[in-house]
Amino acid sequence: MDYFSILIVDDEVDFLETIVKRLQKRNIDTTGVTSAEKALALMDQRLFDVVVLDIKLPGGMDGIEALREMKRKAPLTEVILLTGHASVETSIEGMKLGAFDYLLKPVKLEDLLVKIGEAFEKKDVHEQKIRKAKIQELMRFPGRVFQQEKDEKKKP
Ligand SMILES: [Mg+2]
Repeated sequence: MDYFSILIVDDEVDFLETIVKRLQKRNIDTTGVTSAEKALALMDQRLFDVVVLDIKLPGGMDGIEALREMKRKAPLTEVILLTGHASVETSIEGMKLGAFDYLLKPVKLEDLLVKIGEAFEKKDVHEQKIRKAKIQELMRFPGRVFQQEKDEKKKP
């Protein structure tokens, strides 16, 4: 996979715009939103490989709640948390909930790019394992995998 898509969720508009522009310049499909609600609405419509999620967001939903919901919607999407020094504990909680990693704000763009690359690699390896398991299952029980795929397609 050399194509990948990223969703950045941060209410600091300057930061958000800078990151989105820099990633787009590298031909990476990048979308930026300023709230958890907007991010979740987008995730209902399409898949992202990596989400970068600011833990402190305005509005009704905090970062941890958003993370939980994201992992429920798209379990294979890797989430990187952005956190202030005061909320490192929240990040640890987030890691337990399946976040890939966290970065302390202010974030250096280069560090974020490296972390996004690592998250993407992990997702790729994970998906390869799933594909391999499906192939093995197919070779052992040819009927079962097809049935599963039919069931998956039936889902709304
Ligand atoms: Mg914030």
